[in-house]
Amino acid sequence: MAMKVLSEMMTFNHEQIVFGNDRDTGLRAIIAIHDTTLGPAIGGTRMWPYKTEDEALGDVLRLSRGMTYKAAAAGLNLGGAKGVIIGDPEKDKNEFLLRAYARLIEGLHGRFITGEDVGISVGDVEWMTAETSSVVGISEALGGSGDPSAATALGVFRGIQACSEEVFDTTSLDGIKVAIQGLGKVGMHLAELLHHEHAKLIVADLDRHRVKLAVGKFEALEVAPEQIYGVDADIFSPCALGAIINDKTMPLFKVGIVAGAANNQLEDEAKHGQVLKKKGILYAPDFVINAGGLINVADEISGYNRERALVKVENIYSVLKEVMRVANKENITTGMAAARMAERRLDQAAKLRRRFVYTPSACYRGTKIFSRGNPV
Ligand code: NAD
Repeated sequence: MAMKVLSEMMTFNHEQIVFGNDRDTGLRAIIAIHDTTLGPAIGGTRMWPYKTEDEALGDVLRLSRGMTYKAAAAGLNLGGAKGVIIGDPEKDKNEFLLRAYARLIEGLHGRFITGEDVGISVGDVEWMTAETSSVVGISEALGGSGDPSAATALGVFRGIQACSEEVFDTTSLDGIKVAIQGLGKVGMHLAELLHHEHAKLIVADLDRHRVKLAVGKFEALEVAPEQIYGVDADIFSPCALGAIINDKTMPLFKVGIVAGAANNQLEDEAKHGQVLKKKGILYAPDFVINAGGLINVADEISGYNRERALVKVENIYSVLKEVMRVANKENITTGMAAARMAERRLDQAAKLRRRFVYTPSACYRGTKIFSRGNPV
């Protein structure tokens, strides 16, 4: 392997990387635990036909670090991690490979909790439960939280209200024009919530059937996918793809707010975050506003309670208000403010940890996170 693993780990201070190999099932997997300062590390598992081990390692290192920030900003008592299985989910995935992977997780004794991601379904996660209890995102029939999309949409909706209060001085969305890109699992739920509050919707999706549905149900105005960036609206809500805020799309924007569910919305985080700020467009950092699904599945750790989970999801409103307060006070982008808030929380917890011994099992039971002991 060309990549120097320990040097790579030191770059962003990853705690642990676990490589898994199982000759019988053909499993080749990497789990990266970025940070457990706040609690056991959570992150989905992705199955992808990576061309090289370096590519897989690069992906798992980047994604696990992102999870630390997402969990910390969301106020969860969880750290960040990610797992990748190298292989084609269409051809290589089967019960026994997933069970071999789950045994690898079980060997981490609760330090890593995983769930679905690209190439891994809820059903796949349920296979893993045969070998480990360190999984979340199982179906409601089995006592889990089911599809996270509605919770993600609720978080985005509350985030839009927080942004609207900042820019338009009101949380009422009556008459506010929202352009939604992507009417998939999250976008369609969001359209419903916004329509209920009498927002005016402009929608685009590559799937004609989904557009027709939104036009019929929510009186939405349809535009072609390439036109969504330049529509005359108050809010742009990207709920389809990443990197859609870039040099090409930015000059087209007429909106005052960008707030949506898609991951990695800014093609270049630092540069495009600054450009949005300069243009006076309020950007809701993606990893803050789209954390509803994570908050919802994380509730399974202490025995899933939908009502409690959704109350925590709604708190995205307050988190975003704080992000805006910090961004305004320190004259920085909202993305930087959110990252700073997450880092401050991590620093404070690390200081505490010097005085108390952290016990993952206690946190896992949802009782208390720290117990007295010798400094570590
Ligand atoms: P999805 O696959 O169900 O929906 C995506 C929709 O976008 C599809 O209907 C697709 O046709 C449409 N689309 C794709 N390219 C498009 C384009 N160029 N223009 C217009 N529409 C286009 O996905 P989802 O679960 O709804 O997630 C949406 C986004 O939110 C993704 O970026 C995802 O990573 C992110 N996200 C989702 C969740 C969740 O709980 N599902 C949580 C966090 C983040």
